[in-house]
Amino acid sequence: MPVLPRCEQHRAHAGWKCQGCKRVLCPDCVATKRVQVVTDLDVCLRCGELVEPLTVHRSQQQAFAARIPGALVWPLSKAGLIAIAGLALVRACFSYLGSLGWALGACLFAAVCFAFIRSTARGSDDFDGYDFGDFFADMLVPGVKALVGAAVVWVPAVVWLVMRPGSVLADPLAVLKDPVLWALLVGGVLYAPMAILVGASGGSLLGMLNPVYVARNALRLGGNYVLMVGVLCALFVAWFLSLGVGAMVNALPMPFFPRVLDYAIACYVPFVAARVMGLLLYTHGDEVGYGVESEYLVPVLQGVAPRGVAPDEPVAAEAPKRSYAPIELPEEEAPLVEASVEKPRELDPDKLPPLKVE
Ligand SMILES: [Zn+2]
Ligand SMILES: [Zn+2]
Repeated sequence: MPVLPRCEQHRAHAGWKCQGCKRVLCPDCVATKRVQVVTDLDVCLRCGELVEPLTVHRSQQQAFAARIPGALVWPLSKAGLIAIAGLALVRACFSYLGSLGWALGACLFAAVCFAFIRSTARGSDDFDGYDFGDFFADMLVPGVKALVGAAVVWVPAVVWLVMRPGSVLADPLAVLKDPVLWALLVGGVLYAPMAILVGASGGSLLGMLNPVYVARNALRLGGNYVLMVGVLCALFVAWFLSLGVGAMVNALPMPFFPRVLDYAIACYVPFVAARVMGLLLYTHGDEVGYGVESEYLVPVLQGVAPRGVAPDEPVAAEAPKRSYAPIELPEEEAPLVEASVEKPRELDPDKLPPLKVE
């Protein structure tokens, strides 16, 4: 949080600035005034003019790095646990349908993670109502996008292994020293998260595979992007370990239940990853053109209402003319012919015929 200015009078943190006297004002210096029954205006108690809230960028309110620890506990929130339970149950049932069932379950999993990235990027802490009405758009597309995002990491390296001169089997150690291989792997690891962010936030498959577009967005996010990639790498190791734990649970000699537990354990780390990715867009999305720039500005005193009490306006003749004073309109001339509108008559309930019940 940046250093907040303080008001002159109370030396308290200011949350508004007056448009008239230009002073910065604390909640006690500002009053909410009701104008014409329906409009509430916040006004300066020193000069009576309108005030505007002081705002900071989301990234100044709390840096992306400082938001990451919260992502670790987020899957354990109510919304997260409900999603884990539901997803684990459905995937466990699908898993009895062979490889098609497994693929369906994986698509559903990708769709839920993408939905989490999007809802987090929009600032929601919940699992926004997700409607799987359109199978192709809502499930298959996220599945394919996730597959492409994951493939970006290793496919170029594997293609190079096949294409490169010299057999891999003849000299496996030389392969490990191959700089091209490592460059492709590191490049893939740096590329994939941005490609997935592009895909999850509504970009097309072509957009995900457009290196100029993806690299430009990653560069704009700069250090925060590198930080996210580092966190995702650490999470990947943790995910691998959690899959091992899940496999051990699944080996328990019991029907169905261990399988559900296995899938539930497999959800935790990807949900943390989705949250971390969404938080990067939430804090710095304006740098890559996500959403409207003004949405990234938040009031410095969020959730604090003005506490001052406005004095009654002096008699109209002496009242200073406010910028928000209502404009006066000349009185309308009466219409030549009085419109005749029949007034609704109230019916006497006793004289009504009884209701017919069939
Ligand atoms: Zn003022
Ligand atoms: Zn004050």
